[in-house]
Amino acid sequence: MKTFISRVLLSLLILGAVVAVDFPGQPSVAAYGPEAQTSAQDTLKAFAAMRPIDVHVHVFKTDAAFQALLERLHLKLVNILVMDDTLPYRKELAPQVKDAQALVRSSHGHVALCTTFDPYKFGDASFTADAIKQIDQNFTQGAVAVKIWKNIGMEIKNSDGKFIMADDPKFEPIYKDIAKHGKTLMSHQAEPDVAWGPPDPSDPSWSYYQENPQWFLYNKPGFPSKQEILQARDHVLAENPDLRMVGVHLGSMEKSLDNIADHLDRYPNFAVDTAARMEYLMITPPEKVRAFLIKYQDRVLYGTDLDFLASADVHDVLKDWQSTYVRDWKFLATDETVEYNGKQIRGLKLPAPVLHKIFRSNALHWIPGL
Ligand SMILES: [Zn+2]
Repeated sequence: MKTFISRVLLSLLILGAVVAVDFPGQPSVAAYGPEAQTSAQDTLKAFAAMRPIDVHVHVFKTDAAFQALLERLHLKLVNILVMDDTLPYRKELAPQVKDAQALVRSSHGHVALCTTFDPYKFGDASFTADAIKQIDQNFTQGAVAVKIWKNIGMEIKNSDGKFIMADDPKFEPIYKDIAKHGKTLMSHQAEPDVAWGPPDPSDPSWSYYQENPQWFLYNKPGFPSKQEILQARDHVLAENPDLRMVGVHLGSMEKSLDNIADHLDRYPNFAVDTAARMEYLMITPPEKVRAFLIKYQDRVLYGTDLDFLASADVHDVLKDWQSTYVRDWKFLATDETVEYNGKQIRGLKLPAPVLHKIFRSNALHWIPGL
C-alpha cells in the first residue's frame, strides 16, 4: 500500500514536471487529441540518447546557457559561415572565422566549423589562390567543411555582367583542394521553387521571401533559372567524383523526392541535409517520405538551419531550438502528431537504425573530422 501511494505521488510529481516543462506558446499536451503525447522533456531525452549531430546551424555567440543545452542534449553542431554583403557582420570573413573559432574552442567538442571563402572577391586576379590559402589555414585550425552559398548563381556577377555559377573554372581548383584534404563541400545552390514564383502563401518558405524580398525573383528578368543553377551544381559533382558534397536544404529539390533520388543515384559523392526543409517533408505523402528515407538512409543528414544571433535573447533561442528538436524527433522517430500550418501531421516512426544514421552516423561519414 505504501508503495502504491508513493507511486501515485511519484506519478503526480512527474506529471507536474511534465506540465511545467511544456513550452509556452506551444499547444498543451492535451490539445493534440485523445492519444497520449510524450512530454517535450521525454522527447528531448530520446533525441539526446542518439547523441545527435545537427549539421547545419549558424551560431554567432558564445553563451553558458546555450553550452549547457548542448551538453544536456549530447548534441554536436556544425556551425556554418556564410558571406552575405547585405548584412554588415556577414560582409567580412576574418571576424566571422575568429568568432567561430572561439566558439569551437569553448564548446568542449560540441561545435565544429564549416568555413567559407569570400566569393565577392571573385574579380581579384589572386581570388582562387587566396581562397585556397585561407581555407587550407582553416583546415589546419580544425575546420571540417567549406560552404558555398546561393549568392553564387543568384547575386554575384563577373566583369562581363554575367552571374557567376558554381562550375566556373575559377572555383574548380578550390573544389580540388577541398577533395585533396578529404574535407566536405556544403553546397547551398538556388532556392525553393517558390522563389521563382508565382507567389504562393501556402508554401513553407513563403514568409522567408516576405522578409527577404531580394531573393524573390518572380517578375525579375535577367536572373538565371533554378534549373541552370542546379545544372552548374551537378556539373561540379560530375567533374569532381572525389569531392564529397552535401546539398543543404534537400539540395534545393524540396518538392520532388524523385528528383533527389535521381541525383543520389547518379552521383555517389552527393548527400543532402534537411535544414529548414522539414516542413516540405511534412506536406509530402508520408508513405513516400518514409520509403525515400529508408531507401536512401545513408544519404540524408539531419540539419535545422537554427541560428543564434548576437542580438538574440538566449531564453527565446533555447525555447526555439528545443521546440524544433522536439518537433523533428516526433516527426521522424515516433507515430505521434506534430502541428504544421494548423494541421496535425502523423510521425513517420522510422526504424531505429535509420534514425541513428540520419541523426548521427551519416554526419560522421560525410563530414570526416567531426
Ligand atoms: Zn543556413
